[in-house]
Amino acid sequence: MPSDIFIYIVLMSVAGVLNIFIGIYAYAKRRSFLGSHTFIFISFFSSIYTFGHAFELSSQSLEMIVLWTYFQYLGLPYIAPLSLMLVLQYIRKDKYLTSRNRFFLLLIPIITTMLVLTNHLHHQFYQTVYLRNDGTPMIDFVIGPWYIVHGSYTFGCLLAGGVLLLSYWKQTKSTYWKQIFVLLLGLYLPMISSFLYLLGYTPYGMDPVPIVMSVTSFLYIWAFMSTNILELAPIARGLIFDSMRDGVLVLDPSQRIVDFNDAAKRIIGDKLNDKKIGENIHSLWQENELNTFLFPSIDHLNHKEEFELEWSGLNSYYQIRSTPVKNKSGFIVGSTIVIADITEQRQLYQKLEQLAYTDGLTGILNRKTFIDRSNTIIKQMHKDGISSSLIIFDIDHFKAINDKYGHRMGDEAICHVVSICQKFLQPSDLFGRYGGEEFVICLPSTTLHEAGEYAEAIRRSIENTPFERENKKIPITASFGVTHANKDIVIEDLLSYADKALYKSKHSGRNIVHLAQTNIVYHRGDQLMIKT
Ligand code: GH3
Ligand code: MG
Ligand code: MG
Repeated sequence: MPSDIFIYIVLMSVAGVLNIFIGIYAYAKRRSFLGSHTFIFISFFSSIYTFGHAFELSSQSLEMIVLWTYFQYLGLPYIAPLSLMLVLQYIRKDKYLTSRNRFFLLLIPIITTMLVLTNHLHHQFYQTVYLRNDGTPMIDFVIGPWYIVHGSYTFGCLLAGGVLLLSYWKQTKSTYWKQIFVLLLGLYLPMISSFLYLLGYTPYGMDPVPIVMSVTSFLYIWAFMSTNILELAPIARGLIFDSMRDGVLVLDPSQRIVDFNDAAKRIIGDKLNDKKIGENIHSLWQENELNTFLFPSIDHLNHKEEFELEWSGLNSYYQIRSTPVKNKSGFIVGSTIVIADITEQRQLYQKLEQLAYTDGLTGILNRKTFIDRSNTIIKQMHKDGISSSLIIFDIDHFKAINDKYGHRMGDEAICHVVSICQKFLQPSDLFGRYGGEEFVICLPSTTLHEAGEYAEAIRRSIENTPFERENKKIPITASFGVTHANKDIVIEDLLSYADKALYKSKHSGRNIVHLAQTNIVYHRGDQLMIKT
């Protein structure tokens, strides 16, 4: 029996030394994996526990045994919560490890240490401690209430760590399963052996946990070296995955969700949560309000579709792409869906489009766009047997305005005329800047006379609304030419007829509306005059 204890003490000391070495090794490699500091602390506390136990077993008096038992509690209570922290770091949930949360996790262990060290005053941890009467230098004890708290907390932490690892298992690639399995073994071996100890199934009633702790450390270090456990790569990959701006969903070949990142959650909303792992992607589209935004159904791979979706009350645009994921042998083992935020590109494109189609000063259509669009409308109208009309007008003596008030004021005068004209426009009308201070209006389904009256109304409004700036009233008038397309005619001819009518207006004293190819003229008043 004493030789058994001797072997046990030797084993324990070796385990303690090993823990120290593992700690030193982890310190040397501390930059190569996240969670290294937690690991170092685990090694440090494990060696306190193991050495304490070795010294306890080699002690001969009750006082010394109790002293070394208490010494173990400088390390033992911290191992389980630190293991839980290590798991949280491994599964990339270390954002929960704030200083406050770390403090709360370590609060019960700190109380345990304090209660153990002061146990002789209150007996809350051990009610009584006594030497075994079988002659072995070991103690038995009657546990106090805090012993139960400490024990439950320790098991709780290890259990929580195991559950977290198991839930993470589902989301990870099979290449990392070995690491997770080893971590699980590391967590549960001490727990199982502790249970066996408490149930009295260990040889000579000895506590096997310190020895098992060294096995655990062995497992960690073996896994660390052979399968790159805790290496930066998977963690960095995970961090990149979660910090991406684009939403990413990973699907298996049956279109079940395997993984997704934070951005995907942000875009899709609360409906995409951890419970969706393992569910078919279609159920997500269907039950999500996104369905109403015509979220594309991804039935085949390599499929690319653009979709728009309103988000946060702002107009956000997203592009969705599905790409197959192949293994080394070229088999499709799943797919990824990338949801890219293309709001900026879309807005830039809209801005460029705006610049390409409109006039920079006034914001109305530029000459080319006006001609293209009018041509289409007039042709379509003609096909449908409807005639359309065209008005062209030019500000009178504009050079004089420029000369007298300056070019900038001239610009403002142009905008002033445009804003007057816009008040008369119908949504179907086209309004463009034809030249410097020359404008064109295309009026679909309007007769020549209706267009003439329309032009006359604008003319009168320009005349009656002087341009006011810096306490100056600058009278402005414009001359008009009106024509209409009653036959199949190209826009260039139509513009030329209207221009001729405008020319007539200019030569008849300006501030007049002339109807092309007729002798009809509207002139300074409501009079419709027919020239003979
Ligand atoms: P008319 O009654 O015969 O049309 O006389 P007008 O002075 O308006 O004659 P014209 O068409 O020859 O002159 C137009 C002037 O408009 C010439 C040009 O300097 C000026 N102009 C053209 N585009 C702009 C512009 O964008 N801003 C300003 N301020 N002036 C412009
Ligand atoms: Mg002019
Ligand atoms: Mg002109």
